[in-house]
Amino acid sequence: MLKIEHIGIAVEDIEKSNALFEDLFGQPHYKIEEVESEHVKTAFFKVGDNKIELLEATDKKSPIAKFIKKKGEGIHHIAFEVDNIEEEVKRLSKKGFKILNEIPKQGADNKRVVFLHPKSTNGVLIELCQEIVDCD
Ligand code: ZN
Repeated sequence: MLKIEHIGIAVEDIEKSNALFEDLFGQPHYKIEEVESEHVKTAFFKVGDNKIELLEATDKKSPIAKFIKKKGEGIHHIAFEVDNIEEEVKRLSKKGFKILNEIPKQGADNKRVVFLHPKSTNGVLIELCQEIVDCD
């Protein structure tokens, strides 16, 4: 793994939280993006080299809705950048980590993403992400 790419925070109301985090960081988010397949709306902030992703559920089926119902708002996942997501999935499966989606899916912010089950990582949901490089 290369570095922490971002930290994801589950929020009830992304508009309210955008204002709050804008005050906290002293700068606005740089991107809002809805990921329909995941039933989430996301907002990204940059703090120095680091990124924070806010996630709001867009419906009840959303994993974020389930998370908030169970645990309340708060840190939802830590995302690590990798340079070869398929290889990393193979390596981690061999080590016994439980992979939630073996085949990378389209995530927010132009990334392909894979999640590891928190049961195999001390209760922390881990996201692996690799930037999608446009070939045009
Ligand atoms: Zn994320």
